[in-house]
Amino acid sequence: PASARSFASGKSLPPTYERLFAKYTDVRKVLATQRLTLAEKILYSHLDNVEESLLTNTSGGRDIRGNANLRLKPDRVNMQDASAQMALLQFMSCNLERPAIPASIHCDHLIVGSRGAGQDLDAGIAANSEVFDFLESAARKYGMEFWPPGAGIIHQTVLENYALPGLMMLGTDSHSPNAGGLCTVTIGVGGADAVEALVGAPWELKAPRILGVELTGRLGGWASPKDVILRLAGELTVRGGTGSIIEYFGDGVETLSLTGQSTICNMGAEVGATTSIFPYTQASARYLHATRRARAVDDVDALQSFPGPGASEDARFRFEADAGAEYDRVIKIDLSELEPHINGPFTPDLATPLSKFKDVVRDQKWPEKLSAGLIGSCTNSSYEDMTRVESLLKEAAEAGLKPAAGFYITPGSEQIRATLERDGTLDTLEGAGGILLSNACGPCIGQWRRQDGVEKGTSNAILSSYNRNFRGRNDGNPETMNFLASPEVVTAMAFAGSTTFNPVTDTLPTPSGKPFKFSPPHGLEGPRTPFESGLPSLGVLSQDADPSVQVAISPSSDRLAFLDPFPPFPQSDLAGLRVLVKVTGKCTTDTISAAGPWLKYKGHLPNISTNTLNTAVNAETGQVNAAYDLDGSRHTIPELAALWKARGQEWLVVAEHNYGEGSAREHAALQPRYLGARVVLTKSFARIHETNLKKQGVVPLTFANEADYDKIAAGDQVATVGLYDMLQNEGKGHVQLRVKKGTGEDILIPTNHAVTRDQAGFILAGSALNLLSKGI
Ligand code: SF4
Repeated sequence: PASARSFASGKSLPPTYERLFAKYTDVRKVLATQRLTLAEKILYSHLDNVEESLLTNTSGGRDIRGNANLRLKPDRVNMQDASAQMALLQFMSCNLERPAIPASIHCDHLIVGSRGAGQDLDAGIAANSEVFDFLESAARKYGMEFWPPGAGIIHQTVLENYALPGLMMLGTDSHSPNAGGLCTVTIGVGGADAVEALVGAPWELKAPRILGVELTGRLGGWASPKDVILRLAGELTVRGGTGSIIEYFGDGVETLSLTGQSTICNMGAEVGATTSIFPYTQASARYLHATRRARAVDDVDALQSFPGPGASEDARFRFEADAGAEYDRVIKIDLSELEPHINGPFTPDLATPLSKFKDVVRDQKWPEKLSAGLIGSCTNSSYEDMTRVESLLKEAAEAGLKPAAGFYITPGSEQIRATLERDGTLDTLEGAGGILLSNACGPCIGQWRRQDGVEKGTSNAILSSYNRNFRGRNDGNPETMNFLASPEVVTAMAFAGSTTFNPVTDTLPTPSGKPFKFSPPHGLEGPRTPFESGLPSLGVLSQDADPSVQVAISPSSDRLAFLDPFPPFPQSDLAGLRVLVKVTGKCTTDTISAAGPWLKYKGHLPNISTNTLNTAVNAETGQVNAAYDLDGSRHTIPELAALWKARGQEWLVVAEHNYGEGSAREHAALQPRYLGARVVLTKSFARIHETNLKKQGVVPLTFANEADYDKIAAGDQVATVGLYDMLQNEGKGHVQLRVKKGTGEDILIPTNHAVTRDQAGFILAGSALNLLSKGI
């Protein structure tokens, strides 16, 4: 009871911290002597059943990391407009009145950046009104918070409004770990995972390893928080953080702004980390005050001073790692020695220190002319970022200089935009010739309609303060070389219009003839008075669930369609399946469900399914996207799948290694299931995709003997042996496939599987949602 957890002052913990503290007490009972990192404290304090996860799956709680299956109960879910569509459609199929935990929807990905904020926003709303209306009506019906187009980018809005130290959140976007700057554990997931949390079911995660980054010293000169993660990405590479949480610690942490910490956490996604986290610092408290959440500072103080289990001082819940906590690996970065970096092109881990960039550009024959500099986005649009940029702009204006390259600014939220406007920074940015884009993702996600005459196919270089730089990511032009840097470096180089300019050492010519050299940037960590809220029309819509609201989906829509539940598994083994296609080589989630123009159909399963496996290579013919019907007629793979679906012919796909690598894209599992896939048989699977298949009721099997891949062919008839028993025995038992060849020959192919107890239940029910909607 709250009264039992009161202070001498009579102050009690808020319900969130009540729960956190109660679970933490359970964690300490199980792991009495273990020193925990901060990430572990928060993560394990969100377990559904502490003992079950930490003890029974491990030997005495000693080998949790990398081994235990954690069944977690997150505090909230945040969704962006592109991924929210399928998440909400799945949630709706559960027939619940409201989500079990708070949730928010953010309209940010669908707005194209082109001519400037006002025009772009109007055009974006007009082009996507159907999707926005759907999202808003769903928000009203289920009592989710709705942030309209123009309100801001999900991660900035979440940081400003929802992130609180100690929370565990899921976000349907890979940069959700941005909120780790404010001491939360926030993990990017697919829509089906989000729905599990929304219906109140435990969400499963293999216990991550903990990668420690020790920061010492203090940033100086041109170095910024962005350079911490740019430098780290160079060391870890795009896969170095896989399966790990990155936890920052050390004296240097105290010297960083809260928003700087968030920038670093945001880009942990670029090294594949599960999430990233910083401890609570004075900067966290200052940010909470600036965002008008002073009450949260009191609550944190209350929790941190509340007597812990056994009332010993070191058993209190502190928003930092226990002294002596062990990390699986530690990387040290001395901030005082850190140099600005520029990463790219085409991959975020190709890191070059600024002092060497000029030489690398010339060696590699990259374009020396810079066509555009873009600052802001969810990664780098903080008050600190923008006021540091402002210091450069003012100096350059005094010298009579204007940017020589296109200069674009994307505020992360209406709140930051309005505050910059109030404090005069926006005037400086626009006065310098900067084009203010809407508070939305825009050029960061390919939603950039360039007006600067750079045509598709033209080789050119751009520099952004964003987080990702895959080929074609910004303007859809594969010939645009996209480099990542801090907003300050982007700005200075935009003035030079050159990729070989080093603002630390080089000068620019001025109208007066006197060479101009930038001083190192300086700015304010946050506004002197709390942030402005901005335009009321861009504020949040927040209301209780209203079951009377009709969710807006037109029956004639080609972008949205209600989901019908998948039928349950038959009460027997599967018989009469046919191999639709045998594919060879890499088969990523992009191969199975392409992105790009197909993003438009994310809320329409029948329409997006027409891209299924459309870049897969047929192992028997070497052709891309070719499959053959039993009469020998040639079709595209999705066409044949649709034909077979219409005929009631269920099927399986045969593939090679690491099937489904890439992203957590749930469409890659939903689409085959929708078209009639019952089994996917491979040499191996990417872990997340394998799980996604099971969640949608498809059985992933691997060859016990890889050589059997050569024995099975498209069109073969397949029956399962032992599958139904295995599912009924909660995942225990072996499965074989009886394959009837076109020649009449019968062969038996032994397989392996990794179906757990829960997953067997999902498959039997037809999908995870079928089961969850019954049980909650
Ligand atoms: Fe993703 Fe870019 Fe939008 Fe951030 S700004 S949420 S990285 S698309």
